[in-house]
Order: sequence, then C-alpha cells, then structure tokens
Amino acid sequence: MSAQFKRVALIGLGLIGSSLSHVMRQKGLAEHISGYARSAATRAKAVEIGLVDSIHESAAAAVQDADLVVLCVPVGACGEVAGEIGPSLKHGAIVTDVGSVKTAIVRDVAPHLPGHVHFVPGHPVAGTEQSGPESGFAELFVNRWCILTPLPDCDPAAVKKLEEFWRACGSNVETMSPEHHDLVLAITSHLPHLIAYNIVATAADVEEVTNSEVIKFSAGGFRDFTRIAASDPIMWRDVFLNNKDAVLEMLGRFSEDLSVLQRAIRWGDGETLVNLFTRSRQIRRSIIAAGQETAAPDFGRRPAKN
Ligand code: NAP
Repeated sequence: MSAQFKRVALIGLGLIGSSLSHVMRQKGLAEHISGYARSAATRAKAVEIGLVDSIHESAAAAVQDADLVVLCVPVGACGEVAGEIGPSLKHGAIVTDVGSVKTAIVRDVAPHLPGHVHFVPGHPVAGTEQSGPESGFAELFVNRWCILTPLPDCDPAAVKKLEEFWRACGSNVETMSPEHHDLVLAITSHLPHLIAYNIVATAADVEEVTNSEVIKFSAGGFRDFTRIAASDPIMWRDVFLNNKDAVLEMLGRFSEDLSVLQRAIRWGDGETLVNLFTRSRQIRRSIIAAGQETAAPDFGRRPAKN
C-alpha cells in the first residue's frame, strides 16, 4: 500500500505540524499540503518557509478535499477544531491527530466527525522542548515510535494506510488501546515532565537564597531537568488536565517510592540506595540498546565554545 496522499491538511503548524511538512516534502508523501494555524503570524511564517502549498484562515477551509487531515494543535483544542472541520471533511478522508493523550482525544473529537470519514488517533512519541513553525525538522520522527489507537470499528485499510505513512516518515508503529497508551505515557513522559517542572520551581525558590549558585552549578544534574521543563506550557497544561487519572496513579506510586529513598537516607541504609541506583543504570543501558538514546557521555554534548 502506498504511503502517499494527494492532499494533506495540517491543522496546527508548530513543532509537530512543521516537522510533518518537512518530512512529507523530503519523502514526497503529499502532492499538496494545505495548512491552518490560529494566528496570522504563524500562517505568514509557514508560507515564508514553505511549509504549505496553500494557507487558510479557517480549519474548515484547510480540510476541503483533503485525503489526510492531521490535527497538530494542543490536546485541549482538538474538540473545538473537530467541531469546525466536521461538516467540511471529504468523503472517505482519514482524520488523525498527534496529541500526547489519547482517551480524551477520542472523547472530544469522535462525536464531531461524520460517519463517512476514518478517525485513527495517533501519537508520535518524538519531540523537543521547542515549539512554533520554525522549530520543526524532517528527522524528528526517525527511529521513534508512533502509537496508533484505532477504535474497534475502524476500517483496517485506513489504519494500514496511516501506518505506512508513519513508517515512510521514519517511525516504528505500534497499535494499542487509548487507555493503555495513556497509562504507559503517564509514566514514560507525563510524570517526568511534572517532576522536571517541579524541581525547577523548587530550585527557583532556593536560587533566591543562594545568590545565583543554582544556575552557576547547574551542570551537576539540575541542568538536564531544565531542558524538559522548558517545554510548551499550554501543551503540558492540556496533557495533565486530560490524563488526570493515569498521572495521579503514577504520581502515587512515585511518591511511595520516594518515601522509601527518604527513609533509606535517614536511616543510613546504603544497601537500599545502591540496589535502586544499580537498577536505574540498567534501565538507561536498555534504552541505549533499544536505539532510543545515544551512548555518548553527557548526551553527546561538547563543551560550549567561548
Ligand atoms: P506548538 O509548537 O506549540 O504548535 C501548536 C500549534 O497549534 C500552533 O500552530 C498554534 O497556532 C496552534 N494552536 C494552539 N492553540 C490553538 C487553539 N486553541 N486553537 C487552534 N489552534 C491552536 O505545539 P506542538 O509541540 O507542535 O504540539 C502539537 C500537538 O502535538 C500537541 O497536541 C502535543 O500534545 C503533541 N505532541 C507534542 C510533542 C512535543 O514534544 N512538542 C510530541 C508529541 C506530540 P499559533 O502558532 O497560531 O498559536
């Protein structure tokens, strides 16, 4: 089955939308890319850097005659956008999204879509802390997983076509239920972001009493959290508000495990600490072995040039 589409509509032209445009151009996956972004500034920038063949002032206009529609807006905006595009969708079009949460997307988007389109929710597990139309690049999805969460009554041919599309973008593809997706991503992505946001906030308060030493000595570990904590605030607000149950479940487990560490430190229980730290080291090694991280020390960073 071909991974190509005649006309692809990108609704939202930030990091993910612009990266999709770059890779579609590079691999020849779309004959025409139409685009919509909320602000005139993003629309103008998208035209300037050639992300789209046509730009539209409404999402409904952008999806006209599109064979594939990809919602690349924050999770909390997908329902409203689906309501706008519903009546304008082409018969037989595939509608997908890239949202970091899946159960809420199914809940908010599916009711707005007509029965004659194929809705296949998706999530490319690939990203950076950057956002906006200039942040995208064609290689973002290479060797990363894209998770599809088709509903039981979804047309298998539409799922297959979308799978082929993501593979052509360089991704590995796996399908699972929306609920399972949300549970797995709560621990692998959502909780790490929450912890990073929290540690940076705590350090910012401490910074006031240490006369800039938090920033000065940040290479001791803190710095690596700040990359994650620099992610888009609106996107992450929507993730937490829309994956509440799974995140609270994982946060509960995390807090229990943190108490074990706290207790071990208080009682001088070095064995507990070494056992846990040894297991963590092993997990990083398996992530490297799975090709999801570089083995280079310090994430392959080179010392900054003066
Ligand atoms: P982004 O760079 O901030 O871009 C978001 C786009 O959505 C922009 O074009 C923005 O338009 C538009 N938008 C924002 N709020 C809107 C609203 N209320 N109504 C209509 N359009 C709106 O975000 P992104 O990183 O590409 O994320 C997009 C989606 O991908 C999110 O659902 C996110 O969960 C998912 N995702 C992100 C990552 C990541 O690491 N960033 C990874 C995987 C999946 P303007 O520019 O005009 O404001």
